[in-house]
Amino acid sequence: MDVNLGHRFADDLPELSIPWQADQAPEPRVLVVDEKLAAELGLDPGQLTTGLLTGTEVPEGAKPVAQAYAGHQFGGYSPRLGDGRALLLGEINGRDLHLKGSGRTPFARGGDGLAGIGPMLREFIVSRGMHALGIPTTRSLAVTATGRTIRREQPQPGAVLARIAASHLRVGSFQFARATGDTDLLRRLADHAIDRHYPELKGDYLGFYDAVVAAQASLIARWMLVGFVHGVMNTDNMTISGETIDYGPCAFMEAVDPTTVFSSIDSGGRYAYGNQPAIAQWNLARLAEALLPLLHDDQEQAIPLAVASLQRFGPAFTAAWTAGMRDKLGLAEDPPAELTTDLADLLHAGRVDYTTFFRTLAIAARGKAELTRALFLDPADCDRWLGRWRALSPDADRMDRVNPIYIPRNHLVEEALAAAVADDLAPLHRLLDAIDDPFTERRGLARYAEPAPGDFGPYQTFCGT
Ligand code: AMP
Ligand code: MG
Repeated sequence: MDVNLGHRFADDLPELSIPWQADQAPEPRVLVVDEKLAAELGLDPGQLTTGLLTGTEVPEGAKPVAQAYAGHQFGGYSPRLGDGRALLLGEINGRDLHLKGSGRTPFARGGDGLAGIGPMLREFIVSRGMHALGIPTTRSLAVTATGRTIRREQPQPGAVLARIAASHLRVGSFQFARATGDTDLLRRLADHAIDRHYPELKGDYLGFYDAVVAAQASLIARWMLVGFVHGVMNTDNMTISGETIDYGPCAFMEAVDPTTVFSSIDSGGRYAYGNQPAIAQWNLARLAEALLPLLHDDQEQAIPLAVASLQRFGPAFTAAWTAGMRDKLGLAEDPPAELTTDLADLLHAGRVDYTTFFRTLAIAARGKAELTRALFLDPADCDRWLGRWRALSPDADRMDRVNPIYIPRNHLVEEALAAAVADDLAPLHRLLDAIDDPFTERRGLARYAEPAPGDFGPYQTFCGT
């Protein structure tokens, strides 16, 4: 019944791996499991023991490691970050099984190596919601309470998240490898990444960089189209695979405002909603710097190659975003730029709830614009825009297939977390049921479609928790 865990990362890249083991969990108790994901991985429920899910009983032959990486955090470079409280247990069918909150590692610096059930369940909920929305993301397999109380602002129960990812290779992994000055290591890391994510590009490092730029341009467009704010887009939190990773201070924007920030530590708004495309491009420039030795033997010639690739981010992002907007607006062709910029201005001016707007707009496409108009203080401006949009013959059914009605709204996530900390998992399961099928309106779920009540917020999220 043992789970078969591969160890390619540990074998290929020993310089980036420290063999390590999880801390004991005094009283482990599984809180939630993604059974569909388990089935997808070929794991049966009997294999999901608390020993596996907390890393305290590792299958025969596995080689758990803490991974090394570097990273720019809020623009400042840290040469040595790494898995301070995480472990790569190994690979299942080529995907990583990784634990977060499993105890201190040699990368822990001042941290305690632990995680609380609140933040781990938040990652479970939001990653599940993102997956249901069709957005590339790491997945959450399970959250297991450890029975240990951890010290934070307020003491709270500890937990371990078991996470599945295409890989945990990050921009910061390449920064770390580059900083060693060992070009052979850098090449082995790139070969490993290409083999796992872009196998058709074997040996083509510039093509690999292009592929990462394209994957990230598409990913960030997907975030923007659902109002997702990642909150901590440090280079160590950006994957090579193009999956969303590290759900810390993330949250969904309600009232449209490009300056939306939820993270308590992002006082400068570096990772605000509207900055995400520019920040992604900044992070990709750091990746290019790390890859330069592989792009050309002559570094002077490598730079223009990297710059040309990086410059494709803007057009790729715009194309993905425009295609997404076309679908959200139910149009047969890409919308004219003025139609979408005027809409953005209108929604911002009215501080209209982003998710509600697109859902009611499908009703307007069916001829009933009252709900849409009621979202605006002054419906006259809205009417003018609706007239221009209607002239393009929008298709309401198509709109309902891409504009979610149920997303992990901030107040709902908080409600589920507060109940779970008090040992009541029912609100968590009700929320998961709603967001698992985000596009289908269902009876009895009206409250899951509503924006936060007026007395909720201003909403703040906390990082490194
Ligand atoms: P994150 O904000 O989760 O992306 O983490 C950034 C860095 O801080 C990573 O190197 C983490 O491993 C490390 N880290 C965060 N929280 C802790 C903790 N409680 N103990 C040890 N390391 C941590
Ligand atoms: Mg991180």
